[in-house]
Amino acid sequence: MIDSIDPATGKVWSKLARCGAVEADAAIRSADRAFRSGPWAAADAETRAAMLEGLADVLEARWEELVEPEVRDNGKRISEVRGQFAGLHSWYRHFANAARHLGPEPQTNTIPGVESVGHRIPYGVVVAITPWNSPLMILAWKLAPALAAGNTVVVKPSEMATASTVAFARMAFEAGLPEGVLNVVTGLGPEVGEALVRHPLTRKVTFTGSVAGGRKVAEAAAAGVVPTTLELGGKSAQVVFADCDLESTVNGVMSGIFLSNGQTCVAGSRLIVQSSIRDALVARLLECARALKPGDPMDPATQIGPLANAPHFQKVTTMIARAKEEGADCLLDGIETGKGQAGYYVGPTIFDKVTPDMQLWREEVFGPVLAITSFEDEAEAIRLANDTNYGLAGGVWTSDAQKGQRVAEAIHTGTVYINHYRSVDPGSPVGGVKLSGYGRELGPEAIKDFLQTKSIWTGSQPVPDPFSA
Ligand code: NAD
Repeated sequence: MIDSIDPATGKVWSKLARCGAVEADAAIRSADRAFRSGPWAAADAETRAAMLEGLADVLEARWEELVEPEVRDNGKRISEVRGQFAGLHSWYRHFANAARHLGPEPQTNTIPGVESVGHRIPYGVVVAITPWNSPLMILAWKLAPALAAGNTVVVKPSEMATASTVAFARMAFEAGLPEGVLNVVTGLGPEVGEALVRHPLTRKVTFTGSVAGGRKVAEAAAAGVVPTTLELGGKSAQVVFADCDLESTVNGVMSGIFLSNGQTCVAGSRLIVQSSIRDALVARLLECARALKPGDPMDPATQIGPLANAPHFQKVTTMIARAKEEGADCLLDGIETGKGQAGYYVGPTIFDKVTPDMQLWREEVFGPVLAITSFEDEAEAIRLANDTNYGLAGGVWTSDAQKGQRVAEAIHTGTVYINHYRSVDPGSPVGGVKLSGYGRELGPEAIKDFLQTKSIWTGSQPVPDPFSA
């Protein structure tokens, strides 16, 4: 067993099974059986859609049961988790509906007397590996389209936040999902996660997590010629022009870096601000960040909870120390304000004069640490925003619509928000370029990521002798 530590107290609150290759094999075989025979294998798209809607109904009625396990596991504030879970059912409804629009598609071909039709076929067993920051929302983005497409799924949740996924799987079974369609195997990435990816019956892998983890998973999957979708980290820029709406920008920057303690893949962790507005923006940000109320994540009044786990606390505090050593100007020190709080607490942290040679500019902290730098003109802003190996998201703040569009198009990422930040919706794809990964979740293409096209050719004329002149 592995201890699960409540990051608000530093104490064990639960235990999870440390599965290995034997359990990975059992889960993959269970998923493979359910894919090949039984009610799921026999279900047409309409039946699958109805099963997913049944799951959505149960989630809509019972989501509150899942909240405490997630808060206890990763320390995310209860008000944020409640917000995510109240809408959890809608991801399943969206993809249930998408399943209904997956009919065969006639193909054009130039060969006389032959017709070809494209049929969408599921892969079979999909392995879904999830991180600790938003376990059930990220699982929904994978599970709902994978099941809607007709696959069966084995989930490996993060060892740092497992409990809500196990509780969710039990709920899905109670909602009528046939046995073997959804399987959960708990434990460590390099042990059970890799065993799942390398299993000969695994046909597709979808992964969200760190660049290091994603690289390992893609390498292991390549050995079996198994396709992967990788949603990895980010170092997203918020580009603020002097003509922005200051209050709205402050709210967008605050939500980008301090909601969920910056433990979100799209965290707007680099603030690139036009020099003439820098002092006013920084003064307002400091005022707002200092006012955030720390505390127990189970308390709805808390605005900043603990970081998710001890190794992560170590990583974030080490990166803050390194930024100071490298000469960044620490305007607000979350290690100092965190002292006296229970658990793995680091308060909002703001550094100014961060330059592209510093670690804080180049590497993802995945914590409440904002790195500020200033620019003079649009070209410099774009150059700074793109000076990163990541490419997940970005923001542009300006009252000039044309400039906003121009800069958004020039920022090399999978998503850019103009005068807005952080929204996600089933209709809009998310995903990265460069080290932030490849493939897209959500949006109109998401279900196709879990399908392959099979061409069926039908001849309507006798086949001539292939050797006659
Ligand atoms: P992580 O890579 O440490 O772990 C993610 C998952 O991968 C866990 O379940 C882990 O057990 C598993 N894993 C690790 N090594 C493995 C291996 N060798 N084989 C198989 N599985 C393995 O990441 P994390 O710390 O849980 O999550 C934080 C990271 O996730 C951050 O970098 C963040 O930016 C990223 N993230 C990205 C998105 C996105 O949509 N792009 C969303 C959320 C989080």
